[in-house]
Amino acid sequence: MNSSKSNSENPALVRLIIANVPCAICQRRYSSRDVRVLDRRDHLWALAVKCRICGTEAILFAVMNDKTTRPIRTDLTPNEWARFRHAPPINEDDVILLHDHLQAYTGDFSEIMDEPLPDD
Ligand SMILES: [Zn+2]
Repeated sequence: MNSSKSNSENPALVRLIIANVPCAICQRRYSSRDVRVLDRRDHLWALAVKCRICGTEAILFAVMNDKTTRPIRTDLTPNEWARFRHAPPINEDDVILLHDHLQAYTGDFSEIMDEPLPDD
């Protein structure tokens, strides 16, 4: 994806997000200053939103074709987006590594879910 798209590149998309996608936490409507276009790949746009009321940050995708634009919420934060956007796809070795880790893990599984991801 390209980087550092400006809102002026697609003001119609930003208006559509403002009109149709409220903050997932407090339901407040975004303003144009709260929406930032991050990237675009063909018909897929990535936008960062930040709620000025509750402070929640999120990444939205928008799939645009000739007739429709469909916004899609993600559970990614902007920091996670920055971290994973250039990561290679998950491969068989990753799955085997996770399988081996889970096989050897003897603790409470819910503890794994609360741990932050390791940096590497
Ligand atoms: Zn909010």
